[in-house]
Amino acid sequence: MARRLRRLLGLRPGLRPLLRPVLRPVLKSAPGKGEQKERVEESMAAENGGTEVDGKEVVKEEVKEGVKEGEVQGVEDSLQNLSIQPGNQPREDYLEWSEYFLAVSFLSAMRSKDPATQVGACIVNQDKRIVGIGYNGFPRGCPDDQLPWGKTSKDELENKYMYVCHAEMNAIMNKNASSVEGCTIYVALFPCNECAKMIIQAGIREVIYYSDKHRGKTSTIASKRLLDMAGVPYTQFVPKMKRIVIDFEAAE
Ligand SMILES: [Zn+2]
Repeated sequence: MARRLRRLLGLRPGLRPLLRPVLRPVLKSAPGKGEQKERVEESMAAENGGTEVDGKEVVKEEVKEGVKEGEVQGVEDSLQNLSIQPGNQPREDYLEWSEYFLAVSFLSAMRSKDPATQVGACIVNQDKRIVGIGYNGFPRGCPDDQLPWGKTSKDELENKYMYVCHAEMNAIMNKNASSVEGCTIYVALFPCNECAKMIIQAGIREVIYYSDKHRGKTSTIASKRLLDMAGVPYTQFVPKMKRIVIDFEAAE
């Protein structure tokens, strides 16, 4: 019987955990092999007017039929009932893991004070836990209004590039785990060569990015050369949804 039930459940592997509570009482109430045989022999003996049952093969066949008609039909009914109950289905419009982590990096970017470019990064470990988040900004203790945010001055010291920490660097430096070894980093923009160095040296195993709009820049070309050499794969991820809206009023 157990094999028969397993075969039936094999058709619907997703329902196996849901069915456990339903199956337990069915299995418990189902008679053991010995009991079944006795009952069939009793009923056959009664039908034959109390005469002996002729041959064990006949008894075996009847036992098989009894199981099929009883417990398996019960499980079929349970499956039917489960599938039609409205409260039993999970939501279908939830965020997939990659969408979720990329969205976290985009949300983090909204913290950036950079008037031109806001970038976020989210580091995730092998257990799908976030272990680091960052966005581009000046170093700790360096006030946002005392360093330049521009990028076109002929004086390099008056441009932001000398001072800004990129999102990837901040995510790695602000990690809340002892290490980011073996992690995946989700970024809005393909990492520059400086960030690629840090990603590789930190032991990050994979880069998932959204935009590669600076693909022609030397910093991006150098970045890809480094990542390729170090064996760190990078994959562009395009979410199904173009836009995710955070509606605070949804909690009301
Ligand atoms: Zn960078």
